Amino acid sequence: MTDKFLVYGNPIAQSKSPKIHQMFAKQTQQNIEYDRQLATIENFKDSLNSFFADEAAKGCNVTAPFKEQAAQWVNQLSSGAKLAGAVNTIIRQSDGTFLGDTTDGPGIVQDLLRLNAVKKGARILLLGAGGAARGALQSLLALEPELLLVANRTTSKAELLASLIPQPNLQACGFDDLVDQNEPFDLIINSTSASLSGELPPIPDEVIANSGYVYDMSYSDKPTVFLKHAASLGVTKYSDGLGMLVGQAAESFYLWRGVRPEVEAVIEALRAEL
Ligand code: NDP
Repeated sequence: MTDKFLVYGNPIAQSKSPKIHQMFAKQTQQNIEYDRQLATIENFKDSLNSFFADEAAKGCNVTAPFKEQAAQWVNQLSSGAKLAGAVNTIIRQSDGTFLGDTTDGPGIVQDLLRLNAVKKGARILLLGAGGAARGALQSLLALEPELLLVANRTTSKAELLASLIPQPNLQACGFDDLVDQNEPFDLIINSTSASLSGELPPIPDEVIANSGYVYDMSYSDKPTVFLKHAASLGVTKYSDGLGMLVGQAAESFYLWRGVRPEVEAVIEALRAEL
């Protein structure tokens, strides 16, 4: 019996997950099926029930807008999923119960390490305080940064995020407060959705120009507006979030299959098709 997996979302037609997981399966010689499934807020939980009624269904990925609902459906949450309040990976466990995890945090950290964009003790500026920032928080702190500063357009949301894990190296501010930052950042991560609408988060140019590496979680066939802006300010090391997408998928694959796929060739193949 072939093990079955799928990804839920709405919309879902554009999802690259089936392609990524099929490439992982081929590369690691795993015999799996991986499909996509459109759902609605109303039928998502029923759809999960019927998918997992089939014993061959071993797990699924969940993308927008169902990550919070998925966290309510599972029997158990990983510590990362609890903190994120969201699940992007469901795993059928050997006792028949379902574990919800989130692999976005490990996915971005895996990519940052692959790119040599970060190391222990770094000063990191995280722009944005939405779901993606929340999902990345715990994994970024595991890098033991000297400072992880969350800056957001709505300052209160950055403060709320930082309050989830009280520790001195995790701080929050508004974009306006960034002018007071005297020391440069080793890494800036743009987790705002500004790039999707071709906008720039309004932060001082000097903060970007003086940084060691600029990473945008968004990706497209061309450099995002944020990366283009960073390059125009003289930043030479930067990347978009395509590797994060593949990294989170690799982490899900590992949770299901116990095998770590190579990501480099998969990132290249996807890049060629953007
Ligand atoms: P959310 O909607 O949860 O959060 C959006 C964030 O962006 C908020 O902090 C919001 O600020 C901020 N924002 C939106 N527009 C602007 C703007 N014009 N200027 C400044 N700030 C702005 O989105 P997510 O956190 O889920 O996703 C964020 C981005 O990350 C998206 O581009 C998404 O594609 C990308 N992403 C990439 C992944 C990958 O695998 N590569 C995985 C997950 C996400 P405010 O609070 O003030 O509204």
